[in-house]
Amino acid sequence: MANNIFENELFLAFANASDNVYIYVCDMKDDLSRWSQNTVDYFGLPGEYIKSTGEVWMHWIHPDDRQVYLEDIQAVFSGKSARHHCQYRARNKYGDYVWLECRGSVINDEDGTPSVFAGMMTRLDNQSKYDTITHLLTGAELPNYEYMNRRGAMLLIGLDSLKKINSNFGYSYGNKLVVEFADYLSSLCNSGELLYRIRDDEFVVNVPDGTQEDMLNLMKQVSYYTTEKHTGEDGIYSFRMSAGIVEYPKDGRDYNELLSNLEHSLEYARENGLEEVVVFSKQIAAKHNRSGFLQEALSKSIGQHFQGFCLYFQPIVNSVDQRIVGCEALLRWRTDEIQDSAPGEFIRILEQTGEIRAVGLWVAEQVLQYAKKWQETYGDIQISFNVSYLQLDNDHFVNELLRMADRYQVDTSKIIVELTESGRLKDIDRVNEYFARLRERGFKIAMDDFGTEYASFGLIHNVPMDILKVDRSFVKDLEKESGCVDYAIVECVTDMCRKLNIQTVAEGIETKDLERILCSFPGVTYLQGFYYSRPVPEAEFVEMLEKQFMLQE
Ligand code: C2E
Ligand code: MG
Ligand code: MG
Repeated sequence: MANNIFENELFLAFANASDNVYIYVCDMKDDLSRWSQNTVDYFGLPGEYIKSTGEVWMHWIHPDDRQVYLEDIQAVFSGKSARHHCQYRARNKYGDYVWLECRGSVINDEDGTPSVFAGMMTRLDNQSKYDTITHLLTGAELPNYEYMNRRGAMLLIGLDSLKKINSNFGYSYGNKLVVEFADYLSSLCNSGELLYRIRDDEFVVNVPDGTQEDMLNLMKQVSYYTTEKHTGEDGIYSFRMSAGIVEYPKDGRDYNELLSNLEHSLEYARENGLEEVVVFSKQIAAKHNRSGFLQEALSKSIGQHFQGFCLYFQPIVNSVDQRIVGCEALLRWRTDEIQDSAPGEFIRILEQTGEIRAVGLWVAEQVLQYAKKWQETYGDIQISFNVSYLQLDNDHFVNELLRMADRYQVDTSKIIVELTESGRLKDIDRVNEYFARLRERGFKIAMDDFGTEYASFGLIHNVPMDILKVDRSFVKDLEKESGCVDYAIVECVTDMCRKLNIQTVAEGIETKDLERILCSFPGVTYLQGFYYSRPVPEAEFVEMLEKQFMLQE
């Protein structure tokens, strides 16, 4: 089929249809796409044919919009959605970001498997003045204002649940709600206040002479809509939203700066989840700048063969005699400019940009290479490494890991795949399938973070696993009086694991007392924590192994 779709004359006919429309068609099985010549020219793409387009194209997308794009495109490639529809900014070959509306559809084979993905991206800078659905002004109308010599405030409202509503109940239902919401918002605005729909799920209210207090009050009334007016009308969902506020000229003197600061505030509101509306501040700007700075540096490292990344190893000991049985490989990243980014920070960014997929494969390959080396000298040393839930949204990671296992010929029964933040998995059945393939080949599966918001009881029931890692947050207070509930839970969970034949690792052992308590639970198999060692570079870890090995002889 692949050749046919690419050579199809229809493709060429559509490709020439308009200067502002960019056509693509993708053979989903090979993940190979063809792009119209005007796309190649305008965006400076490497060529008409691109392999793994999703990942390649992401580098053209504005970092702030990558998440939106990723979520949508992943839904398509994972078979969850048959339609791609989102708006984002992409960089043209002149280095300017332009707004695009991207739409695409999946075509299935005769046997129902998704095989072709085709669609178009439309440039929105020539768009009409009014939004066709709500009849509000579009984002294109915002730049027409001069902000430098004016005072006022702007509110950006994001409808967090719109995507979900569209996919669960259909676009026409979603549109109906958007229209109702727009009408309600209009009814709250006075004359002279301007209302825009700048993206599918984002509205801007611009209030000349307004202040941040005015916007906070307005947002209170808007929230009333979600809690009182709408929840329950159809009884189906809760209409959640987040918002950001800026004042001008203080927070930006032109449209681009104001809108970008509004987006940062909205993003902050969304990330934190608790605050519905966030007023733009210097801290938000600083956080955003740092995150942009790190994002660029991370991409650069990845582009330079993962320069700056390395693995540290933290020993894991047996609860019976505290001998080292293995280690956890933990990612570290340093560059000449950035020396202080902890995994909690840079891994979150890699997850946001999707680059964790590439880095995760690099980690896996390093781990297999270390395993190969160590197994030759120290026999049955185990090594576990972390895999983000995002790496399992398609079968690429699993396929590659199996391929590497063949290539390096390691004893896979000593390699443990640790799944982090499993609570965020979208499709547990599919992930179980991947894990089954890995276990069949010998790998062991561990669930990380047990006891945090990301991994709880349901998991033990839903995911077949070999090892459960009890998070440090559950362990750290066990020796204190305040930890008596944790004590009961850890004892009970580890005991349950013992009965289910699941091994356990208690993390965060920092003191002799904690070691004593955890060793008294029969269900605790292994221990890990600063009491034994912090994560260390390879040479230091090997030294520890060497010492133990010598003692044994
Ligand atoms: P994790 O997988 O739960 O790793 C254990 C973390 O706890 C490590 O932090 C380790 O340094 C820390 N830790 C271990 N023992 C103690 C202790 O006794 N006390 C205290 N206070 N901390 C202890 P680290 O290296 O900063 O990693 C943080 C998280 O980043 C990891 O949590 C894991 O979720 C993620 N991560 C690390 N490497 C990778 C990777 O290669 N891929 C992915 N996807 N995630 C990774
Ligand atoms: Mg871990
Ligand atoms: Mg952990």
